[in-house]
Amino acid sequence: MLKAKNSLGLILFPAFDWRISPTHPEREERLLYTIDQIEEEGLFDYENVEIFNPEMIESKYIEMTHFCIPDISSIVTVSHKIAAGSAITIAKKVLSKEVEKGFALIRPPGHHAHRITYGDRGFCIINNEAIMVEYLRKEHKIKKIAIIDTDCHHGDGTQDIFWNDKDVLFISLHQDGTTLYPGTGFTDEIGGPSAIGYTLNLPLPPYTSDEGFLYCLDNLIIPVLEEFKPDIIINSAGQDNHYSDPLTNMNFSAQGYAKLTEKISPDISVLEGGYSIESALPYVNLGIIFALAGIDYSNIREPDYNPERLKQSQRTTDYIKRLCEHVYSIWKSKEEREYKIKMANQDYFVRKKSIYYDTMGFRENQLEKIKICKKCSGLILIDSLCLGYRVLAIVIPHDACNDCQKEGHKLFENAAVGDYSHILLQDKKSFEFFRKTS
Ligand SMILES: [Zn+2]
Ligand SMILES: [Zn+2]
Ligand SMILES: [Zn+2]
Repeated sequence: MLKAKNSLGLILFPAFDWRISPTHPEREERLLYTIDQIEEEGLFDYENVEIFNPEMIESKYIEMTHFCIPDISSIVTVSHKIAAGSAITIAKKVLSKEVEKGFALIRPPGHHAHRITYGDRGFCIINNEAIMVEYLRKEHKIKKIAIIDTDCHHGDGTQDIFWNDKDVLFISLHQDGTTLYPGTGFTDEIGGPSAIGYTLNLPLPPYTSDEGFLYCLDNLIIPVLEEFKPDIIINSAGQDNHYSDPLTNMNFSAQGYAKLTEKISPDISVLEGGYSIESALPYVNLGIIFALAGIDYSNIREPDYNPERLKQSQRTTDYIKRLCEHVYSIWKSKEEREYKIKMANQDYFVRKKSIYYDTMGFRENQLEKIKICKKCSGLILIDSLCLGYRVLAIVIPHDACNDCQKEGHKLFENAAVGDYSHILLQDKKSFEFFRKTS
């Protein structure tokens, strides 16, 4: 039997029961071709490449990550629970050192699911990586986590959940939001008052090629990771930057994805989007798998691969260089920026958000208030209006000081059902969830 350089665990969960529609690109064939290709390429001849069965997620991890409205059972399907459970299973295998690296090839995806979730947004209902982070913190006491989102769409849900959490560094590379759903992910989105600079966005112009993506890796992502020194690196491994993807406009290749994976060297990868079902996904997935396992990937190539045709313009090259310099300067000035906010003598840092649910065609309006606390990252209060519900969501962060924790519980007790349809409290410090509903 062959032996890969790194032992690798895989979970393959195509979710036969869940699709947007029979012809929509978000359907089970996204993984079926890949499974065939993996077999054809002889991946199962490697003694240290293992396939694991997924488990179902326990509700407590969903409750510590999301506020599901009206409730978990109304919006979260069994497929979603298994996809999120797969992320937990692969984390367990890596943390117990059964394998060195893990890749959960699962659907439905999750990175567009925000902290409050009313249902399907960008094919996501719950956020698989974010739920895994809560598991890693609770069960394995992991402190510093980096999530690198290489899906073509901005990982707006993951950004929302870790917005004010400096133990989670979130970096998203994506097609510029002026040209693609969800329309966010600009360089000025840099995190909440206690986590300024721990959210970094790299919006890339349409038709960026391998050269541009790898430039961002070498000149921004790798240097920032070296300085942040995460205990674990997670890759939201979306594959829709591929040149043949029908939903996007980028020029990334399977070789590019393999190189990117080798450079990031994530401990755990979780599949996000990628809709070029036959032309790209089998090659890209294989490139990622080979790179994770440390197997030579130089022969993995799409049949129609033509680097000349995919070359990015000089303007794009110049733009990306400036972009990386700018974003790196945000990272470098984060303490100074945070200090200014904390010294401004505000009680709360307030954000208004309007969140569109594209697959379901409705909009949520939120008012989010983050308490400026000198002892912890601060209590978060969200007032959310959507579908006739009015939700008061209170988050006690995992690093909460005693005052913020007490204040959170008091606000929950004093809030009146009647004014709100849902009053919800997520106490991440004590890992408890409370609800009052009308
Ligand atoms: Zn992304
Ligand atoms: Zn995507
Ligand atoms: Zn506090």
